[in-house]
Amino acid sequence: MKLLRCGAAGQERPALLDPQGRLRDLSGQVPDIAGDTLTPAGLQRLARLDPATLPLVEGRPRLGPCVGRVGKLICVGLNYSDHAAESGMAVPSEPVLFMKATSAICGPDDEVQIPPGAQKVDWEVELGVVIGQAARYVSRERALEHVAGYCIVNDVSERAYQLERGGQWDKGKGCDTFGPLGPWLVTRDEVPDAQNLAMWLEVDGTRYQNGSTRTMIFDVPTLVSYISQFMSLQPGDVISTGTPPGVGMGQKPNPVYLKAGQTMRLGITGLGEQCQRTVPAHLENLR
Ligand code: ZN
Repeated sequence: MKLLRCGAAGQERPALLDPQGRLRDLSGQVPDIAGDTLTPAGLQRLARLDPATLPLVEGRPRLGPCVGRVGKLICVGLNYSDHAAESGMAVPSEPVLFMKATSAICGPDDEVQIPPGAQKVDWEVELGVVIGQAARYVSRERALEHVAGYCIVNDVSERAYQLERGGQWDKGKGCDTFGPLGPWLVTRDEVPDAQNLAMWLEVDGTRYQNGSTRTMIFDVPTLVSYISQFMSLQPGDVISTGTPPGVGMGQKPNPVYLKAGQTMRLGITGLGEQCQRTVPAHLENLR
């Protein structure tokens, strides 16, 4: 299944993408694509529905983040050996973890806001792993049982905030709109091999990232198991598993960063595409 949320920000309704590519309203079935809906029992219930019996969603609504009420957005740094190299950093011996503020989460095609004065805003196409069943001290062998499905994440980053302002990376990762999720949560049964997905990202039509989840250092089961040794994972938590090479910071001879008025397009095989326009941060209308 391809599950999604559509409607105005903060008022999204649950929906699914039917086999003909139409949106079908799930709001008569579940309160949201979040929490208990993502558990094995919750997904089984949805899988038994005949999409043709669900109401069609009218028009072309905005898509919201494909998971609601994300409890934790846990990111993995330097998880592709060639990206570690372009960043001038050593290949880590254990996964590098950091948290992205959940207030950064936005829809897959929402505007990405450049913070006031920010000079080094960068892109990172990543495979997102959506947790469906609580996980605590799980083995690598049983880790995937805790995964509801997958989605695209753009781990938008401000490199100066991340690397030049002291302390940990979180400052450069959690700005509002730095976490587009979606368009869909694709359930695990439709992604038989998460370690063989092509992934790409373009800015204004120039392709910068062209990678595959095949070159991850720590694969999805390893990451779920590893993270569950340090914190419990809950349904609706999302793990963003790192980015392949081609980020702006790694461009030669000079880094390339985003400015307002540009368009990012990114995709992963089977998980759809995202498209974001960059704009100056809205200083009023705080959400
Ligand atoms: Zn990242």
